[in-house]
Parts: sequence; C-alpha cells; structure tokens
Amino acid sequence: MKAAVLEGVNNLIVKEVPKPMPKDDMALVRVKSCGICMTDYKAFSGERLNLEFPMICGHEFSGVIEQTGKNIKFFKEGDNIIASPVSSCGVCSDCRDGLTQYCKYGAVIGGDGMETIIDGAFAEYAIVPETSLYHKPNNISFDAAALTEPLAGSYKGMIEYSQLKIGENLVIIGAGSMGLLASMIAEKAGAAKVIMIDINDWRLNFAKNCGATHVINSNNTDPIQAVYEILPKGPDVVFEAAGPLQAAQLAFDLCRRGTRINEFGVTTEGSIKISPAEMHWKETRVDASFSVYPKAMQHAINLMESRIIDPSKIITHRYPLEDINEAMNTMNSKERIKIIINP
Ligand SMILES: [Zn+2]
Ligand SMILES: [Zn+2]
Repeated sequence: MKAAVLEGVNNLIVKEVPKPMPKDDMALVRVKSCGICMTDYKAFSGERLNLEFPMICGHEFSGVIEQTGKNIKFFKEGDNIIASPVSSCGVCSDCRDGLTQYCKYGAVIGGDGMETIIDGAFAEYAIVPETSLYHKPNNISFDAAALTEPLAGSYKGMIEYSQLKIGENLVIIGAGSMGLLASMIAEKAGAAKVIMIDINDWRLNFAKNCGATHVINSNNTDPIQAVYEILPKGPDVVFEAAGPLQAAQLAFDLCRRGTRINEFGVTTEGSIKISPAEMHWKETRVDASFSVYPKAMQHAINLMESRIIDPSKIITHRYPLEDINEAMNTMNSKERIKIIINP
C-alpha cells in the first residue's frame, strides 16, 4: 500500500510499504479521509520529540472496513466507520472510570498523549482495534466524519469539563480548528456572547461564521480591555485553544471572580505566572482537557447526524496522499483552517 512515512524531521516520503495485518480484535480500514492536526505537523517539523522514526502519522480519520480479525463482533467488511485514535484495555481502573485516554495498556493511532503509538492513517490502510471503531451514519460525509475526534475533543473540553451553560458569556483564545469547533459547540449550547481572540484577521473573519459574536485581534488591541468593554462583568468561561504560553497566561489574566478556565490548547513546555492567593480570592476554577473518550465520540457523532453541527465547515483544503508535503507546507499558511488528506 501507499503510505506517507515520516522518516525524520522534515522528511516525509510517500512510498510503498507492506499492508498491515489486523490482529484478531482489529479491523483493516481503507482510509477515505484523514485530517492534519497540529500534532502531526509538530512531528513533521521537529517540534514534537516523543516519537520514533519511521512513523506514519494521522489520527483523525474515517474509512471503510476491508477485513476483520476473527474476534470482531460489531463490524463487518464494507462497513463505513469513524475511528477514534484512542484504544484502551477496558479493564484497568482508568478505563473503568471512563477515562480511557489515561489507559497505560492502550495505544494511540498515529497521534500523541499515550505511551504506545501505532501507525496512523496518512496511508491507504490502517489497522484499528474494534473498541476504537464507530459506525459512520450515512448522512455524514467521510470528510466530516474524519473530524469526529477534534469535534469530540472540543465537546469534551467545553461541555463535559468546563460545563458551559445556556446564557453564559465565553471567551475563546485561538481561532484554529479546535477553537472554531469549540465556538460552534458553544453557540449550539446557548452561550450568550462568544468572544474570539486571535492574531490573524483572516481566521477571525472565519470565526464569525462559526458562532463567534465578537472578535478581537490581540496584535492591535489590548485583549483584556477589549473583553471588559464587551463584558463589563467579565467572562464566565475562558477557553484557551491557541497553544503558545502567552495564550495560557492571557486566560488567567482575563479572569474575574469565579471565572472557569480551560487550558485546552497548550502542549508547549514551559511555565506561566500564577498567584495562588489571587486564585484563592477569585475562586478561579481551572480545567484542562486532552484527547477523547467514547462518550465524547458518541456525542460528536450525534451532533453531526442530527445536523446540529457540521464540522466540515472548517475544511479549507483537501489533498491526495501523494501531495502530503504540499499539504504540510499549507499548514504554515495564514489562510487555512483544517486540511484533509484523501488517500
Ligand atoms: Zn488531533
Ligand atoms: Zn485501560
């Protein structure tokens, strides 16, 4: 099969590799659509260090089952599927708490955040454990279905962890894929004002069609002053979905008493300044959220199937597998949101 093999930093080669063989509890999936995540880009560019070359990245994907291992019960050849990148043992105490993303005995397919990483979906085929497979409803396109995991991640952060409620005022920092999906979820969850902060006017304009009621460019405006002009009493929730440490700091600096923060986007090593006493008197509540668990995947599928949210709205580019290097270059463009690879 053809696969995009990451052989080193900035060294991504599309070549023939052996088709993987599914184990008894796995399925071989013909990949139809796979999103490029910043995690993939950071592996390519060398910003991410916790991986071994050669590797096949790609963890946001959908496809068709080509072959099933003999213990597979709920899926058959020809089924259209959505894959979760997280597979878990189902038996350890984390799994039994429903927190499968912590499982030490599981693996992540083509992604990050777990100890074991298996080959991902920038390839014609990928193998997926049955516990990571979901049936794709017919009214969801393969491209939209590939965005189930990022939609589920935003849902988990915004609704399950930050517990956004109808009528609340929200600030989102970062109008990238995750920030925009979070904004679409917040709109449907009944947020009153959704203020999007970014440093890119093109993205801020895009955000206006994804649920943002107000946009602030923090390059040419003081974001704290601008937020408090719109919300004199301050935000109920600040959702950081940007990545740089300055964004994590800004989330704290935007708080009034009782604000709930979600440090959702930062995977950059380093520290920020936090005053525990100030947190105490402000009763600042801090959440963080990474990856997904099965409930979040199922809710994301429900949101798409019921046409409440269409995540394919954020797709700006599509490339065949052969052109994945061009796609990686486009990741640097100021005028892109989600890029899809169609192997
Ligand atoms: Zn991702
Ligand atoms: Zn487990």
